[in-house]
Amino acid sequence: MRILIVEDEKKIAAFIKRGLKEAGYAVDVANDGEQGYYLASSEEYDLIVLDVMLPKMDGVTLCKKLREEKVTIPVLMLTAKDSVRDKVTGLDAGANDYLTKPFAFEEFLARVRVLLRTDGPAQSVKLETGDLVLDLLSHKVTRSGKEIELTSKEFSMLEYFMRHEGAVVTRTMLSENVWDVNFDTYTNVIDVYINYLRNKIDKDFEKKLIHTVRGRGYILKG
Ligand code: CA
Repeated sequence: MRILIVEDEKKIAAFIKRGLKEAGYAVDVANDGEQGYYLASSEEYDLIVLDVMLPKMDGVTLCKKLREEKVTIPVLMLTAKDSVRDKVTGLDAGANDYLTKPFAFEEFLARVRVLLRTDGPAQSVKLETGDLVLDLLSHKVTRSGKEIELTSKEFSMLEYFMRHEGAVVTRTMLSENVWDVNFDTYTNVIDVYINYLRNKIDKDFEKKLIHTVRGRGYILKG
């Protein structure tokens, strides 16, 4: 899952970004409305976290523009104001939810989860590939009923593979959807993580699920 944060207050942006990354999401940050609008309309995101008071283009205008262009990515609006009128303005502009600053990160994360569940791409609670089961709510992964401990990055990577079961997943796809825009694709980080994942989900089992497709990437098959 990939999230765009549009927030000019650097401290808040960094705080949200860190928290979301720890929760296993890929995160990009735009520091003004124009950059946010550009990224939201040119890249693929599952959610936009949008501040209202922004330089160059305010959050309400940005949200309206996206909705006029039929961009349906869920928007969680952040506002420093707590009046009913501002909330209504945000929701009228097409935002799906709002949160008043300052907020507790736990509440923010809970709302992010709800938005990704209800307005994101259709998703069931569990993904299954052969005897491998990934539970999106509890974040538990099992193979043949045996629980497998994954880090948040490994979990995101496996989730991406399972959503693309049977299809070739390239390193670029992984870097864009599991890491973020600034990811250095020339490093071997992805191959290193594939090895971690293989050690955890394939090593102790006769039937391998992750296969290398020479020169192209990887494929997960049940
Ligand atoms: Ca602001």
